[in-house]
Amino acid sequence: MARRKRLGIIGAGMAGLTLAKAMADCADVRIFEKSRGVGGRMATRRTDTVAFDHGAQYFTIRDARFRAALETVRADGVVQPWAGALATLPENDLAAQLAGNATRYVGSPSMNALAKSMAAGLDIQTNTPVQAITGAAGTWFVETGDRREGPFDWVIAAAPAPQSAALLPGGFAHHAALAHTRMNACFTLMIRQAEDAMLPFAAARVDDPVIGWISRNNSKPGRSDTPCLVVNATAQWSDAHLEEPLDDVRRRMLEATRRYVPLSAVEAEAAVIHRWRYANVERPAGQSFLLDEVSRLAACGDWCIAGRVEAAFLSATALGDALRPIVKAAP
Ligand SMILES: Cc1cc2nc3c(=O)[nH]c(=O)nc-3n(C[C@H](O)[C@H](O)[C@H](O)COP(=O)(O)OP(=O)(O)OC[C@H]3O[C@@H](n4cnc5c(N)ncnc54)[C@H](O)[C@@H]3O)c2cc1C
Repeated sequence: MARRKRLGIIGAGMAGLTLAKAMADCADVRIFEKSRGVGGRMATRRTDTVAFDHGAQYFTIRDARFRAALETVRADGVVQPWAGALATLPENDLAAQLAGNATRYVGSPSMNALAKSMAAGLDIQTNTPVQAITGAAGTWFVETGDRREGPFDWVIAAAPAPQSAALLPGGFAHHAALAHTRMNACFTLMIRQAEDAMLPFAAARVDDPVIGWISRNNSKPGRSDTPCLVVNATAQWSDAHLEEPLDDVRRRMLEATRRYVPLSAVEAEAAVIHRWRYANVERPAGQSFLLDEVSRLAACGDWCIAGRVEAAFLSATALGDALRPIVKAAP
């Protein structure tokens, strides 16, 4: 009988978790994740009283396999529809927007709840930034600074494209596709409000040179009632100001937010800024996944298809479909 294969996956976002689950029946899978928790950009930032979804704001469920994969968590209430109105600002045509809304889903009680539920039973090493992949085809090692893990028959990078490109050895056949991919930054501002500003929307797309999105985080299901806002800068503005001091970025985003929402000095003072270096996908790889059978390395993630949670799932699912028979057939 063939020896059971060992797979190393880098990244415990939607893509890494989906792939690990898809491969669990035919291989021993270990995930290495640099952060404290799982979920990647499906992220939650907790303060004393509020938890902000400071990464993905919501996701769609259009694909039948994504719908099927989420059936149990939807029944358990871990994934719920976010029913509020999506407006456009500054001209707030709320009635038209309400009629045109597609269903938007969120993790509950926080966005990372879905990833936490997917992670159950998986072998995941958090707080473990991978620094390099060394070795050779079929005997790869994952270098984590103080430790060398392996050998792995296969290693799969499920991190954003630039981070995957930096880790995958030069022999990986698809570096050109990784280099072709372009991702945008995003600055996210988290604001706890002293009182509810009674905004007539759950979220708004904003036509502004600095900010592109405002959401009322407490309008999502399962959150605390404390009013709080998540504001995203536009991709273009974020890219242009990526290396600027965070205090300056924070000040400019607060100025922009005040054009649409009243904020007291105390609320502005307490606002927290987060910089996503790789947030959204401007130019995808154009292939659902990258697989190099000779070197036994692969990569997947939203950046293969589009900057969406559902795309991350679809990329990893397609890679799993291709990889499973190969792994099963190998001696
Ligand atoms: C501000 C913002 C708003 C968004 N809004 C939406 C939205 O409304 N709807 C939507 O569908 N999508 C949205 N997205 C995009 C969505 O979050 C992503 O498409 C999706 O979460 C990507 O999943 P992934 O698994 O491909 O990558 P990630 O979630 O980025 O997972 C990659 C993981 O790899 C880890 N990693 C990276 N390097 C290393 C290393 N060297 N060693 C170990 N681990 C490593 C990271 O820590 C991370 O956990 C948004 C993203 C951001 C940032």
